[in-house]
Amino acid sequence: MRILVVEDEKRLAEALAQILRENRYLVDLAFDGQEGLDNALSGIYDAVILDVMLPAMDGFALTAELRRQKVMTPVLMLTARDQIADKVAGLDSGADDYMTKPFSPEELLARVRALMRRQGEILPDEAVFEDLTLNLSSGDLRCGVRSVHLNYKEFEICRLLMANPRAAVSKETLIVKVWGYDSGAEDNNVEAYISFLRKKLAFLGSRVGIEALRKVGYRLEGNRTC
Ligand code: CA
Repeated sequence: MRILVVEDEKRLAEALAQILRENRYLVDLAFDGQEGLDNALSGIYDAVILDVMLPAMDGFALTAELRRQKVMTPVLMLTARDQIADKVAGLDSGADDYMTKPFSPEELLARVRALMRRQGEILPDEAVFEDLTLNLSSGDLRCGVRSVHLNYKEFEICRLLMANPRAAVSKETLIVKVWGYDSGAEDNNVEAYISFLRKKLAFLGSRVGIEALRKVGYRLEGNRTC
């Protein structure tokens, strides 16, 4: 899950990012409204957490522009102001939820989860494909009695492949979703991580393999005969 945080108070932005990262979300930060809009328009995010009072473009205008351009990523608005008028303006501009500062990490996480549920995204604890079970909280990949921990990028790649079983996921999609679209990551970064994942699948003794389709991408294949 990739979340964009748009917040000009850098300490708060960093604190938000830390809470989210500790809970296995991938987080990008933007510090003004224009940068936030540019990032959010990429459509790669599963949610946007957005401060209302921002330089360059406020949160209301940003959300309205996102919706005008048909980007429907769920938006959680954040503000120190708790006036009814602001809540109405926020929701009218197309935000999905509204949270007033200060807030607890637990409240933030609960609202982010609710936001993603409302988006219609199913958030099970586990993803399953053939003999593999990926625990989405712990990042452990299990096959039978064997289990192995996946690091951050391995986990995201594995999750994306399991979310689209038997459909190919392109290298470009993996770069954008796992590394970030301005990360400078290249095909060989993806290839390296695919190779790490394959080694872990072999260690687990799984019958699932990762098939490379030339010029298309990767997909999982079940019942692989070794
Ligand atoms: Ca602000």
